[in-house]
Amino acid sequence: MATTAVAGLAAAAQPLTAAPGVRVQSSVRPVVVSSSNGYRFKNGGTRTCVETAFEQMMRGTDVLDALIAGVNIVELDPLDTSVGYGGLPNADGVVQLDASVMHGPRKRAGAVGAIEGVRTPSLVAKAVMDSTDHHLIVGKDAQTFARGMGFTIEADLNTETSRKAWLEWKRRSDPLHYLDPNRREAALRDVMLSMVADGFINENHIYGTINCNGVNARGEVCGVTTTSGLAWKIPGRLGDSPILGAGLYVDGEVGAAGSTGRGEANLFSLCSMLVVEEMRRGRHPKDAGLDACRRIQRNTIEKRLLNDRGLPNFNVNFYVLNAKGEYAGVALYAPTAGSTFAVCDEKGPRLERVEPLLEGSTT
Ligand code: ASP
Repeated sequence: MATTAVAGLAAAAQPLTAAPGVRVQSSVRPVVVSSSNGYRFKNGGTRTCVETAFEQMMRGTDVLDALIAGVNIVELDPLDTSVGYGGLPNADGVVQLDASVMHGPRKRAGAVGAIEGVRTPSLVAKAVMDSTDHHLIVGKDAQTFARGMGFTIEADLNTETSRKAWLEWKRRSDPLHYLDPNRREAALRDVMLSMVADGFINENHIYGTINCNGVNARGEVCGVTTTSGLAWKIPGRLGDSPILGAGLYVDGEVGAAGSTGRGEANLFSLCSMLVVEEMRRGRHPKDAGLDACRRIQRNTIEKRLLNDRGLPNFNVNFYVLNAKGEYAGVALYAPTAGSTFAVCDEKGPRLERVEPLLEGSTT
């Protein structure tokens, strides 16, 4: 189904060329890549994240500003329960958001962790980058910082959908909170799977995030990652998304990589940094991304994190591009035809198949 829709859209898409005055390096193919939600959600408008970002980039907007304009659509869309407004809350029912941004040419970065009450944490991360000497501000103080920078603070970012899903999670899991950690992990996993099976949450939104990276015709590379993090997390838990080198890494001379999926696995191996370093050594984005997946597999030895085949029982995805505009989407697993990532270049927006390291699925 996705293939037909994509083919139709790609055929209808008008070629987008660089704006007058934008110096085009013929060796660079401008492109924006993101997780698949960057092709799906429009927040009631007409354009997706990758279309918006690519179009703005080609008109000469700063690459990072263009990417943030794209992910803002997903952050603001209540239908994406993995990012921004309407993201699935933590175990206390509070939506806590993480985001990071990196600007290749300027060699600047900013991030926020566990921020509450602001729908667009990517813009707060950019304010950290632009207006402070720091790279990361977290928790209540991130909100205080955002208030000071003029952001609207809301009492609650839940929607009826996210609140209903949390109440159901609480009902199913609360008696399980005091088991020993291994039994609790297994019990919570069972609760999660039963909630997916009963239609309370989308399986892609247990973990879910948007990472979006782009390179323009000048070869300028930037990236952004923004998320509501792991559904029902322990309050204050940060995943990989706001951590430079984990959920996002950009080196302006080399390329960009960002991630969605089990943040703990990515944090342990700092994979986005690893991917960029592999590209620095000349690896293609796909091979560099698969190297990171291999590292995660090697570092996953705890029984509770392994399936019956002795392989990781979770997924992690990477969205990767280099400064020439070569790109890839890779993952530990790509079990279905819907295992895709979003791309927009001069041929228009589309979904492409993620390249998996391992056969089958997480089970
Ligand atoms: N990787 C992020 C995290 O672990 C979010 C996700 O993709 O679910 O918080």
